[in-house]
Order: sequence, then structure tokens, then C-alpha cells
Amino acid sequence: MNGSLAEFRLGEGRVSGALGLLFAGLALGGALCFRYPAMLTMPETGAFYAAHLGLFRGLLHALLALGFALAATSVVLSRSKRAGLAGVAVAVAAALLGGIQARVGSTEGRAVFAGLDYFLLELLALTLVFIPLERMFARIPTQRVLRDEWWLDMKHFFLAHVGIQILSFLSYFPAKAFFGWAVSASLQTKVAAQPFWIQVAEIILVVDLFSYWTHRAFHTVPALWRFHAVHHSPEHMDWLAGSRSHLVDTLANRAAGYIPIFILGFAPGPFLVWVSLISFQAVFIHANVRWTFPGLRWILATPEFHHWHHAKDAEGIDKNFAVLCPIWDTLFGTAHLPGHWPKALGVVGETLPKTYLGQQAWPFRRSNG
Ligand SMILES: [Zn+2]
Ligand SMILES: [Zn+2]
Repeated sequence: MNGSLAEFRLGEGRVSGALGLLFAGLALGGALCFRYPAMLTMPETGAFYAAHLGLFRGLLHALLALGFALAATSVVLSRSKRAGLAGVAVAVAAALLGGIQARVGSTEGRAVFAGLDYFLLELLALTLVFIPLERMFARIPTQRVLRDEWWLDMKHFFLAHVGIQILSFLSYFPAKAFFGWAVSASLQTKVAAQPFWIQVAEIILVVDLFSYWTHRAFHTVPALWRFHAVHHSPEHMDWLAGSRSHLVDTLANRAAGYIPIFILGFAPGPFLVWVSLISFQAVFIHANVRWTFPGLRWILATPEFHHWHHAKDAEGIDKNFAVLCPIWDTLFGTAHLPGHWPKALGVVGETLPKTYLGQQAWPFRRSNG
């Protein structure tokens, strides 16, 4: 039996242990968000949660009950009781924290860790979508869910989400500070008055053009490459690996992408569609799935397209820079889709540190390695 099947062999309590711990952890985080909303959640979403309080309270209860039941099942079934016992303890802590009544705490005060809610909801949604998808349609079936370095990538994922407010502020700043002169109210009115889907197509094309050249610069300018190498350092790809990124790289990319949006001023609806698309896409193109989308692969970036971007194989170096739209790569001569998958992924000739802080510090160190 191969690794992936062994991992999911029923009746041994491993799957229930891992899922129990995940759900109990999400419930604990959710209970904390209910209790300390001012400190832990994003101010923008407060009104939304208040309007759907019953829904979020129900979700919290379901996660708590499911986490507890799965963790308890694992304690009974599994020879190693660690995950199961940890899950039970976390579920009890969530219940004690107010998970049962899910009372809403004061919203007065200042956010210190705003974005915990965003992290929890996105983690729940992504694990529900991508873990089954990667198990059923794996490009590399022997790769485990909890593969090497998954915990390191989870730290990247966590910090990018809880730091969303600071990251957003910093990435909007350059456009506002340096491109105010380019804003014209009449142009923005015309742009926002166009049909909905035309605007969506325009945002995709224009933001991808900006991020194409930013991304390409991060590959070709040696000082910038040291920042971007962090994103290329995973040797195993999955939905979580795409989160690995240096903060300077993340900020530069978002700041560049925001410039055309700031100048052109699209309507909120199309902008929201684009944000949802790009958020899903950023995860999807890294996923360990074997779909190649024969009819779409030159129009929409696919996992095959972006896995080639991460290739160590010589033919894939500095290819496929686009996130959504391979048209720019085709136009500028960097598209590469040979019809087979790359042999190896990662950075050629460099060994990056395997810790979060080590990776953030690595580009600033004088010598390589
Ligand atoms: Zn790259
Ligand atoms: Zn990538």
C-alpha cells in the first residue's frame, strides 16, 4: 500500500485524530474571536458577523461538536493517542471559553491580532476544498497532507492572514502616495460605468500585466531574487506551499497590482469578483492536482502552468510569470507548457533556511546559503 493510502487507511484513528484536532483548533480560535472581537477580528467584518450571528454561532457549535467527536474516536481507535487527546483538550478549552453560549464580547478597544477570523475561515474553507481534491486527483499521490515543511508553510499562511491589516495598509500606500496625480474622476466614472464582466476582464488583464513585470523583475534582478527565492524554496507543492513568501515580495507584488486599480477605479462588484478569483487562484495553481485543462491552459493559469514556474528543470527556469492570465507570458516570450510535468521543484544551487524567521532574514544576509 502506498503512502497516501496508508495515511488514510480507515479504522486506525489517524484521520479522525488529525481532523479532530483541526476542527477543535478552529473552534477554539472561533471562541476566542467571539470573546475578544476587538482584539482578534477585522473591524470591517464586525457588522457582517453581527448580521449573521446565528450562522457563525452554529458553525462554531458544529466545529466544536465535530472536533470533540472525531478526537474522542481517535483516542479509542488509535495506538498513538497524542492527536486525539490534544483534540479533546482543545475542544474542552473552546467550550470553557464560551464556545457553548458563544457570547459576543465587547468590540471596544484596539485590534492587536486582527485577522484571526480571516485566518480561521480561510483555513476551514481551503482544507475542506483542497485536502479532498488533492487526495482524489493528486499529481504526486505519494505526497502526504502533512508533508515535510507543512508546519513552516502554515506559519507563513497564519502570519499573512493575521497581519492582513498591516499588509493591506502597506500595499495600498505606494499607489496612494505616488500615483495620486494620475487619478482622473471622469476616467474613473467611465471605467466603473462599463458592463460588469468587461470590468472583471480588464482588472484581470491590467493587474496581471503589472504583476507580470514585477514578478519578472524579482527573477532577473539578483537582489530581488533573494527575496523571491523564499517562495520558490518548497520542493513539494500543494495548496499550502503557495503561502510561503518573503514579506517584501508579498508587499511589492500587492503594491504593484494595486496601482492600476487605484488609478482606474473599478466598481466594487467587479473588484470583489477579481479579489475572490485571485485569492482562489493563488492557492489553486500550487495545488498537488494533475488536471491540465487542455482547452484552457493557454488562457487561464493552471497548476501545470505554475508548477513549471517552480521547476528546477533547466527548460522551466524563468518561465510562466502570470498568476491568472498566460497571455502576457505568450506575448513576452516566457510561456512554457511542454505537455509533461517538471521533474523537480525548488531553487537551483541554493539552500534556504527551514525556519520562518530564517527565511525572512535570508535575503539580508551577505553570503548565500
Ligand atoms: Zn517566481
Ligand atoms: Zn508560486
